[in-house]
Amino acid sequence: MGRMLTLFTNHTIKMRLQLWISTIIVLLAFSIIVPFYFIEKKDRLEEADVQLKQVITLQSLYIERWNQEKLDAIKRFSLSDNAKFHRIGDLKREFQDYAKVESEFQSITYVEPNGYIFPEGSGRSPIYVGDRTYYLRGKEKKSYVSGVVISKDDGKPVITFSVPVLDDHNEFRGIVLGIVTLEMLNKLMSQLSFGETGEVYVLDSQGNIVTASNHAADSMITQRASSEIFTRARSNSKDHSAYTGFRGEKVYGQYRWSPERNWVVVGEITQKEVFYKLNELSVTIIIISLIALLFSIGAAVMIASKMERPIRYLLRATKIIQNGNYDYQINADKIRKAPMELRQLVNTFNLMSGRLKSNISLLEHSAWMDQLTEIHNRRFMMTEGNRQLQMCIAYGQTCSILMMDIDHFKKINDTYGHLVGDAVLHHVASLLKRYVNTETIVARYGGEEFIVLLLHKNAAESAQVAEELRELFMQEPYINEKVTVRITASIGVAEYSPTLEYGTMIMEDMVSRADHSLYRAKSGGRNRVEVDTKGNQEKRFEE
Ligand code: GH3
Ligand code: MG
Ligand code: MG
Repeated sequence: MGRMLTLFTNHTIKMRLQLWISTIIVLLAFSIIVPFYFIEKKDRLEEADVQLKQVITLQSLYIERWNQEKLDAIKRFSLSDNAKFHRIGDLKREFQDYAKVESEFQSITYVEPNGYIFPEGSGRSPIYVGDRTYYLRGKEKKSYVSGVVISKDDGKPVITFSVPVLDDHNEFRGIVLGIVTLEMLNKLMSQLSFGETGEVYVLDSQGNIVTASNHAADSMITQRASSEIFTRARSNSKDHSAYTGFRGEKVYGQYRWSPERNWVVVGEITQKEVFYKLNELSVTIIIISLIALLFSIGAAVMIASKMERPIRYLLRATKIIQNGNYDYQINADKIRKAPMELRQLVNTFNLMSGRLKSNISLLEHSAWMDQLTEIHNRRFMMTEGNRQLQMCIAYGQTCSILMMDIDHFKKINDTYGHLVGDAVLHHVASLLKRYVNTETIVARYGGEEFIVLLLHKNAAESAQVAEELRELFMQEPYINEKVTVRITASIGVAEYSPTLEYGTMIMEDMVSRADHSLYRAKSGGRNRVEVDTKGNQEKRFEE
């Protein structure tokens, strides 16, 4: 249940694709299998119906012809002179002669007009059959074929064929009675069976099974056929649905009455046999469908992952970029098999991230550089410089700051013009650049003021650097084709101090103190270096 829920609430592209593809395949398989099954089922039923109809028609014809033959044989005796003139001894001899060539009759007998049979052999008493239907019919001068009756002679089930004997005045002179055991009929029926379970049997007018095509009738005779098919036969129902046959299996059956309605021929075949091939075929189709389904799901998984993979890479890449790794590139080899559009998307992404990196580094560069002097600007000093200062102090080292201001710069501008003024600033910056290394950061602080951060240097060492710089400016004036501009600068030095005098930040405090020193240098006559006295040096001194 939980899994099912996550399947439906997990809205990834992969899941959705897999779900949809699988659903479509299952629906497709069903839309083929279900109609196929019903159409095929209908065909099979129709086929079984036709077959049953053919079989019972053929069987009925056989039985009718067989009946007619037996009746005709009996009729010949009844019309003979021996019968007409009541020459019983001769008649019985005729019977015996006939029985020699025609073995189907168990016996042929003469029934006296009074309803008695005198059996052959001495000492046997006459049998009264005056109550039997065939006798009563005979008295009405009618021939008669019985259903299954129990022989009065030996108690076995038999069928009787009877024809009245009439004299020249059309008077009733007794009956010729032929008795046929069911074995005869059984032999006939057994010639015709169909399929593996198909069988034909005969019911008498009471619904008793007279014969079965595949089995001896003797054991069947006591059985009643399935009441269902006999009920249908009695009501002439056209119902063709399956029912439980007398063997207890589900069967399809059809019936056919004899012309005199004293027999019903029933043909039955098991439902199992009718649908056996269909079921076999259905199972095969279902197995094939399942295999196809498995393959399709595999394909769906593959397609889905091919679609999903580049999107997953893109998503991850955007997150990486979001975290500041601007030049992140997606490895195009990993999505070689992805759909074309997605590959294009990834390529475009890579182009974009490539450009993003160069644009951002350009931006970063220009944000930290002073355009005129081509050295770092104040912002750089306040961020990167500050960071390095903090690190330096965290490691227990000292640092210093130089604040530098060009002397009488206004005059330079006034004398040579702003362009030369600019060039002088660029020149001073290039002199400062010579000092740049991993422990020295130089920046233009603003106007004609510069700032130098000296890591790992105390006030004395820094004052020495400042002195060097001051001399360097004097030694290297700005020179172009027309003018030579002599430069001097005043420099204030301040070392790191743990107690802040100005502001709340270390850098702020150092800059302020360096600025004060610079002011002193200016007021003290310019072109000189002044050192702040409240740095570490003083601290150490106090200790
Ligand atoms: P001192 O520092 O010795 O007291 O005198 P000063 O003349 O250098 O000081 P002041 O601050 O009065 O003048 C600074 C001048 O620098 C004023 C301004 O016009 C000029 N200046 C500031 N930035 C630039 C720049 O980018 N280019 C040029 N050409 N001049 C600039
Ligand atoms: Mg100034
Ligand atoms: Mg100045």
